[in-house]
Amino acid sequence: MPEEKTEKVPLKNNILDRDAAQLASLIASWGMPAFHARQIFTWIYQRGVMDFGAMSDLPAGLRQRLNKEFCAGAVRLEETRMSADGTEKFLLRLADGGMIETVSIPASGRVTGCISSQVGCKFACRFCVSGTFGFRRNLSAGEMIEEALYLRHRSAAKSLTHAVFMGSGEPLDNYDNVLRAVRMLNAKDGLNIGARRITISTNGLIPQIRRLAGEGLQIELSVSLHAADDRTRSLLMPVNKRYPLKDLVPACREYRQKTGRQVTFEYVLIRGINSSLADARKLGKILRGFDCKVNLIPLNAQTDPGLVPPERSETAAFRQEVAKSGVPVTIRQQRGEDIEAACGQLRSSYERRVHAGRHHHERH
Ligand code: SAH
Repeated sequence: MPEEKTEKVPLKNNILDRDAAQLASLIASWGMPAFHARQIFTWIYQRGVMDFGAMSDLPAGLRQRLNKEFCAGAVRLEETRMSADGTEKFLLRLADGGMIETVSIPASGRVTGCISSQVGCKFACRFCVSGTFGFRRNLSAGEMIEEALYLRHRSAAKSLTHAVFMGSGEPLDNYDNVLRAVRMLNAKDGLNIGARRITISTNGLIPQIRRLAGEGLQIELSVSLHAADDRTRSLLMPVNKRYPLKDLVPACREYRQKTGRQVTFEYVLIRGINSSLADARKLGKILRGFDCKVNLIPLNAQTDPGLVPPERSETAAFRQEVAKSGVPVTIRQQRGEDIEAACGQLRSSYERRVHAGRHHHERH
C-alpha cells in the first residue's frame, strides 16, 4: 500500500479553540489591553479574516505575537463535489493529514452546515461508511469551528444559519470538544447561530445523553434509532449491545422531561431489515405517549450490497403506520445523493482511489 501523504505542518495553537474570554485573558497576560480580543473576534467571526497581518486595527506588536503563537485554522481543501440540488460537499485535510468531510445544504433562506466531529468513527454501524477506516482521533473544538467558518465562507450568501453534527464521528463520544464548539457556534461574538438551530445527532450513548440534559442548552437532540427491537438494532448498530432500547428510550424520555425539549428519532429505512409494517407498529408502540418526532431516512447508498432502501410506496406506508400511534413522523428529503453525501462516503471513495493509486493530488 502506498504511504499515506502527511505533510509536516508545525502544529501551532489554533486560535479558533479559544473563546473570547480566554483570548482576552491571554492577551492581558502578554501585557496588552484585553479589548484587543474583541477586535480579533470581529475580524475572524464577523469579517471572516483569518490572517493576523491583515487585522489592521491591532498594534503591530500584537499581530507579530499572534503570528508567532497561533494559526487561525489549518484545513486545506482536498476535493469538492457540488450536487444538482445545491448541496456541496468538501473533503478537508487537517493539519496532521487526517481527513474529514463537511457539507453545506442550502434551502430556502437557510444554509445548514453538516459538521464532522471525529476523524473516522469507532461505532461501525452496518449501513454507514464513516467507520470503514476505523477511528483516528477526535476533532478539537477549533477544528469544528473551522468547518463552520469554511462553509460560511464558501456559501453564496456568506452565511451559515444552521449546524448539524451529522458528519463523520459520534459527537457525544467527543463530548467536551463538541460542547465547546456548540457554545462557540452559538456565541453572539462567535458564529451567532441560535441554539435551536444547532442539532447534535447521537447513536444513543446514554451517560452522555444524561449529561447533556444538564447543560442548560436549547439545542436540538436527534437520536439514531434505526430499529424498534433489540435484535435488529444490535445487528445494525453494535452500540446497542451496550445501550439497548429498553434503557435508551427511557433515557430519552428523561431528557425530554428535564430539558423540555423534544427529541427527534432518526430511522434509516433498509428494505427487508427494518421497513415492514410490523416494524412500523413496533416503533409506534415503543414511542407511544412520548412527545417526540420521528424522521424516516431512506438508506443512502451502500456499504454492503445487501442493504438497499425500500420502494417509495413502502416508505410511505411505513410512515402512515407509525403516524397511527400519534407520533409525528416525517420523511427526510434526500439531498446530495449524486455526490456521495451520506456520512463518510466521499472520504471513503477518495481513500479507495488513493489506495488504488489513481488519485493525482491537486492544489486549490
Ligand atoms: N454518530 C451520529 C451522527 C451520525 S450521522 C449518529 O449516529 O447519529 C447522522 C445520521 O445519518 C445518523 O442517523 C446516521 O445513522 C445516518 N446515516 C449514516 N449512514 C447513512 C446512510 N448510508 N444512509 C442514510 N443515513 C445514514
